[in-house]
Amino acid sequence: MSTPWHVLGAGSLGTLWATRLARAGLPVRLIVRDAQRLRDYQAADGLTLVEHGEANTYAVPAQTPDDAEPIRRLLVASKAYDAESAVARLAPRLTADAELILLQNGLGSQDAVAALVPQARCISASSTEGAFRDGDWRVVFAGHGFTWLGDAGHPVAPIWLDDLQAAKIPHEWSTDILTRLWRKLALNCAINPLTVLHNCRNGGLEQHQCEVATLCNELAELLERCGQPAAAVNLQQEVERVIHATAANYSSMYQDVANQRRTEISYLLGHACKVATRHQLNLPHLKQLQQRLVGHLHSLGLPSD
Ligand code: NAP
Repeated sequence: MSTPWHVLGAGSLGTLWATRLARAGLPVRLIVRDAQRLRDYQAADGLTLVEHGEANTYAVPAQTPDDAEPIRRLLVASKAYDAESAVARLAPRLTADAELILLQNGLGSQDAVAALVPQARCISASSTEGAFRDGDWRVVFAGHGFTWLGDAGHPVAPIWLDDLQAAKIPHEWSTDILTRLWRKLALNCAINPLTVLHNCRNGGLEQHQCEVATLCNELAELLERCGQPAAAVNLQQEVERVIHATAANYSSMYQDVANQRRTEISYLLGHACKVATRHQLNLPHLKQLQQRLVGHLHSLGLPSD
């Protein structure tokens, strides 16, 4: 019997992974928040994946964090701001050889989780797949993409990548996962906050090229200072390419704010500013961007952490 995949969080990415693993016949357990959510889930038929307009439901067994079953392989599919507290509740269930796969966007939450469970192997992921919930226990696979997985402290790939192959989850083992995470964070910092502050789609930033270029210069300086020079290469060109290629899209931060949801600011722009301070690096525009964004979130009554 192969090792079960415990999937923490029945949100967009958690459901996207759990349904594809279950579809391949692999053992999956969904971990939901509490007994009430478990009852809600049990009243439904299972988890539904909508792909190419076709909906399929998978009867993935679910449990609460208090369940007694030991956990050897845990996919953490919460938002970055929930990862540490969610893993803390599961820590007593982790086996001595447990492995965690961390799907969180940005940086900061991965280190916080790793510090909490030093005996476990923590693998970070960076994904370009896109999914959203169009109902409880139901997810729409909106953007096919790719997931890079890696462990900054240990270059050898885990054997369970075979499970991802069987589940048709496009992936690659990456020996420079930190560089990928930093690059994605920098792209996010140069685009997402400005789409919120200018209240526009990504393409609207074509009217703010100077502001974008100034931020890219400061972000490149930060990447070089914190030991990630590869993530700084041609940053501005890539930011401009992404703005153009995704001109009609609303950024994830824009969508969070528009839907009155908490953003992941602390793990994106907030993390960049924190690391700059740690390196005694003065990045005035990045800092001012953070202050403007925090002020804007406050004015809307949204959390700024
Ligand atoms: P999401 O839809 O909000 O799902 C997060 C899930 O985690 C929710 O179902 C939430 O439960 C659950 N959760 C939080 N704390 C929990 C706990 N203590 N116990 C059990 N469940 C808990 O978020 P998402 O869109 O999947 O994003 C997850 C991460 O992936 C984020 O960092 C995001 O930036 C990144 N990401 C997302 C996408 C995408 O297309 N969605 C793409 C790339 C990267 P409740 O439902 O009860 O609140």
